[in-house]
Amino acid sequence: GIPQVAIVGRPNVGKSSLLNWLAGLRVAIVDDRPGITRDRVVYLMEHEGRFFELIDTGGMGHMDADALTQDIENQISQAIDSADLILFVVDTREGIATMDSEVAKRLRYLKTTVICVANKTDHEKFDTQADDFGRLGHGQPLKVSTEQNRNRSVLLNRIFDAL
Ligand code: GDP
Ligand code: MG
Repeated sequence: GIPQVAIVGRPNVGKSSLLNWLAGLRVAIVDDRPGITRDRVVYLMEHEGRFFELIDTGGMGHMDADALTQDIENQISQAIDSADLILFVVDTREGIATMDSEVAKRLRYLKTTVICVANKTDHEKFDTQADDFGRLGHGQPLKVSTEQNRNRSVLLNRIFDAL
C-alpha cells in the first residue's frame, strides 16, 4: 500500500503547519486556541511521481497536563499502528521542553524510523540552537521553517530515502 508518514510532537511546535507546507495547501487547521476538537488529517502527498500519506493526529491548543499526555499517547499509538515513518517535530525557538523529552523517550524503542524535524528554524542564526535537539537521541535534527520555507525539498528527500 501507500507508505504512511505520521507527524508527532507536543502542541504548538507546528505539526499542522508542517502538513500544510508539505501539501502546499491549507488542509490542517493551524491554531493555538484552546478547546477545539481534536483533528486527524490525512493528506496524500505526491512528489516527483512518488507517494506517501501524511498524517497529523495532534490535538490543538493548550491542554491541561492529563489531556496533553493523552494527546501524545494518542498520536504515538496511532503512529505505531499505521506509520512507516514518524516525523518528530520540535520547536527551535523554544528549545528542548520537558514534553519533547517525554515524546523522545516514547519513540525511542519503536521499530519505526524517526526523523527529528526542528521547525521554526526561521534563519541560519538559529541553526546551532536547532542542533541541540540531537540530544533527544533521534539523530541530527533536520532544520526547517514552514514560515520561511526552509529545506522543504531536503525534508521530502529525507522522507523518501527513509521509506
Ligand atoms: P501544532 O499544534 O503542532 O499543530 O502547531 P500549529 O501548526 O498549529 O502551529 C502553532 C504556531 O506556530 C502557529 O502560530 C504557527 O503560525 C506557528 N508556526 C508554525 N511554523 C512556524 C515556523 O516555521 N516559524 C515560526 N516562527 N512560527 C511557526
Ligand atoms: Mg495541530
